[in-house]
Amino acid sequence: MKYAFITGANKGIGLETARQLGHKGFHVFLGVRSAVRGELAMRQLETDGVAASLILMDVSKPDSIQQALEEVKKHTEHLDVLINNAGILHDRNHGIFDMPEELFAETIQTNALGALHTVRIFRPLLKEGSRVINISSGGGAISEGVSTWAPAYCISKTTMNAVTLQLAAALRAEGIAVNAVCPGWVRTDMGGAAASRSVDEGADTPVWLASEAEIHHTGKFFRDRREIPW
Ligand code: NAP
Repeated sequence: MKYAFITGANKGIGLETARQLGHKGFHVFLGVRSAVRGELAMRQLETDGVAASLILMDVSKPDSIQQALEEVKKHTEHLDVLINNAGILHDRNHGIFDMPEELFAETIQTNALGALHTVRIFRPLLKEGSRVINISSGGGAISEGVSTWAPAYCISKTTMNAVTLQLAAALRAEGIAVNAVCPGWVRTDMGGAAASRSVDEGADTPVWLASEAEIHHTGKFFRDRREIPW
């Protein structure tokens, strides 16, 4: 049996990724911070014939991640795929100088440190051939310049990209792949109704990295199944 754990999987890109991996035969663990919202997602997946388990986990709280690990260990001793998808975007209407300090802290804690701590804590379940996928954003890319839009969110995704490179370097010798993905602008609660892509399209590259991409791809940033600059 192949096992995948996805954080923030009760809706949006996370839920769609769970559905697609379920249809490829994975047993999917849905990491969610709300039992009520998680149960709703479980019902949708059940209707779609996907084998899934609900795991309560708030990625911004290391204690909660540790409890989630203990729950997952009751089902399996390994994860084939770990997807750090949970994220927040609460600073659309702020610039870097009028941003409340707490908003920087909350955003970086959730989007970047959440992914880092999840991999550190779930490390015992990662074996040769496991794949870690960090759902980042083109907003975190810096090599071609940055905009002033949502600075806390963008800094958190730049940090997530750095986390991806550090983890890839640390796990390379063991044959564990760690990559980042920009899903594009996707119609979810975060992306909004005007976004150019469906959730199906947004989940495509994460699902490809989870199930089809060559394992030697590690420490890279992808969009539309192609490598993009950091
Ligand atoms: P979404 O529909 O808003 O879903 C975000 C998910 O993250 C929700 O399940 C949410 O749970 C969960 N989450 C937030 N904070 C959490 C925490 N502390 N612990 C656990 N779960 C938490 O957004 P989405 O568009 O699917 O985004 C998924 C990922 O793609 C994010 O990392 C986002 O930055 C990235 N992304 C999205 C777009 C886009 O256009 N949509 C573009 C680039 C990158 P609740 O339901 O409990 O809030």
